[in-house]
Amino acid sequence: MKIGRRMPAPILAALVASVLVLSVVAGCASSPPPSASGAVILSATSEAPRGSLAALVVAPAKSIRVPILTYHDVDSRPVLGPRGGQLTVSPAQFRAEMDYLKRAGYRTVTLEQVYKAASGKAVLPPKSVALTFDDGGIDNYTVVYPILRSHGFVATFFIVGGFPDLPGHTSWPDIKLMLRSGMCIESHTSHHRDLTTLTDRELVAELAGARDVLRKKLGIDAHILAYPGGKYDARVEAAARAAGYVAAVTVRRGKVISLANAYEWPRIGIGPFTGLTSFRAALTK
Ligand SMILES: [Zn+2]
Repeated sequence: MKIGRRMPAPILAALVASVLVLSVVAGCASSPPPSASGAVILSATSEAPRGSLAALVVAPAKSIRVPILTYHDVDSRPVLGPRGGQLTVSPAQFRAEMDYLKRAGYRTVTLEQVYKAASGKAVLPPKSVALTFDDGGIDNYTVVYPILRSHGFVATFFIVGGFPDLPGHTSWPDIKLMLRSGMCIESHTSHHRDLTTLTDRELVAELAGARDVLRKKLGIDAHILAYPGGKYDARVEAAARAAGYVAAVTVRRGKVISLANAYEWPRIGIGPFTGLTSFRAALTK
């Protein structure tokens, strides 16, 4: 039986597009090593013969609930400048939160894994949580990375294309090292500008331009975007799609993730005043 004869063309086209998109999502190392916490993705479907149309028949996209936590800097001193002190979490707090995740049996997953799960292409382990870090401060390498490694955790780092060469930021060689050890690197635009204020041409430079920089510096295709300052509108979403992003995260609070809201994925912000009780509650409610 030829699936194409039985399946309405729009549905088949959507499935093909879905598979094509999945095949190019690669902001992480292609096969991140399983973390000590067991953060591996489980295949939802058995492998179909190579080249078979059956390979295109994936489980339908679905809505999933997974907490995506947002961190910025983890430092003993408040970080000055545009990233501001109110976003800086102390190393002691961060370590306590990671200790809690470990103790409570949470599994860390990358946003690439989340995207595949929302696409119906895979299922996430129970108690999955995605850790994300915006802006690429130097502490992402000097503080966050060792703590993640010691816990066997993976995370997604949103890097601003023009920042790694600036003082106070994680350098390209260090980002590359993190990438090679299983961390996921995605895009936080080229210069961290408010995207809603830009011309169409400037949007291309910030969105497609950042992907170009990440490709050139790291050899990866970033496909997930974090809007600077969480600011976006319908025009920005369309520009992100046109630039090749398949999903984007916001600073809106929530846990429902799907392809229907792929350019408006909510996250849960973690700040210096979150507290362990609120942290635990945010994961479960
Ligand atoms: Zn930012």
